[in-house]
Amino acid sequence: MKNKQTDPIHPLKAPILKGSTAALSKAISLVESSLETHSLEAEQLLEQLSKDTASKRSNSIRIGVSGVPGVGKSTFIEVLGGQLTKEGKKVAVLTIDPSSQQSGGSILGDKNRMQHLSQSPLAYIRTTPAAAHLGGVAKNTRPSIQLCEAAGFEVIIIETVGVGQSELEVQDMVDFFLLLHLPGAGDEIQGIKRGIMEVADALVVNKVDGANAPLAKKSQQFLQHAIHAFPSRANHWEVPVLLASATEGHGIDQVWKTIEHYIDIQRKTGEFERQRQQQLIHGWHAEINQALLQSFATDVPMQSLVQQLEKDILSGATTKNEAKRKAIASFRGKWPSS
Ligand code: GDP
Repeated sequence: MKNKQTDPIHPLKAPILKGSTAALSKAISLVESSLETHSLEAEQLLEQLSKDTASKRSNSIRIGVSGVPGVGKSTFIEVLGGQLTKEGKKVAVLTIDPSSQQSGGSILGDKNRMQHLSQSPLAYIRTTPAAAHLGGVAKNTRPSIQLCEAAGFEVIIIETVGVGQSELEVQDMVDFFLLLHLPGAGDEIQGIKRGIMEVADALVVNKVDGANAPLAKKSQQFLQHAIHAFPSRANHWEVPVLLASATEGHGIDQVWKTIEHYIDIQRKTGEFERQRQQQLIHGWHAEINQALLQSFATDVPMQSLVQQLEKDILSGATTKNEAKRKAIASFRGKWPSS
């Protein structure tokens, strides 16, 4: 076991605290790396940064932006990010690309995403393939958020492209979760699961321009109606359904005002800090699960036992339950109890 006190200060610590995006990128790459030495280095760096960044963390705003591919997320984030950087705010955008998981390629990589925003010295944009997330989206995104905050980014936007598990994971690491909708289509058609709509802090019907405008009004009414059927929020927040056109820049201001208003209420009631603490503990649980899974999957004798047990189940030599108990008992024996 290494003694923490003898760990040297990581060379990326000082440049990150000064806001170097090159150092930030290197640190996120360490977080995303599958090499164990890199993971340990990343953990060490995060611990060293954590003491110096408590106030940066509590002053930041973490926003999740979600919706089906093509709804306009990157266009929307580019405009919102542009407005915020104009006000002098430092904005980081972390995009999770699920397409890379199946195909090995990436749809996002082929697009010129957020070209404008990426040129601002106050903005940082990073796309992560979901394939890098062995333990789900949360595994790398949580530490990446911390690194962005350590580098002084005040608004962190997490963009998720899929509509499923990743949204729910992301919702559990942000202060405000925004769901974008296309005008005219019901939520079933858009493939958005009810569970995701239920956790959104605001819905935005995007592309409210040109011929879409009348359809958008209808969608707004439909969504307002749908929201009323959801359980009410503990904080009495009335989830608004807003209208926007990312390409024309309409309505984005209103979305930002809504976010600020919500965060203000959350901070005043202490709910902001409470939610962050709850998310921290959820993240910690996810880390433990991940570590257990990893050690199970990479333990060679354990894996040969599993293979033997598979054969025994198929031949009828043992039952599934008995085999499960054997595997777990053997795995437990590998973990010292103190
Ligand atoms: P994403 O896949 O959700 O990130 O969507 P994009 O931001 O890449 O946008 C998909 C397409 O919709 C692009 O061709 C955009 O130019 C277009 N788009 C985005 N926002 C709007 C909008 O407000 N109005 C219109 N008419 N088109 C938009």
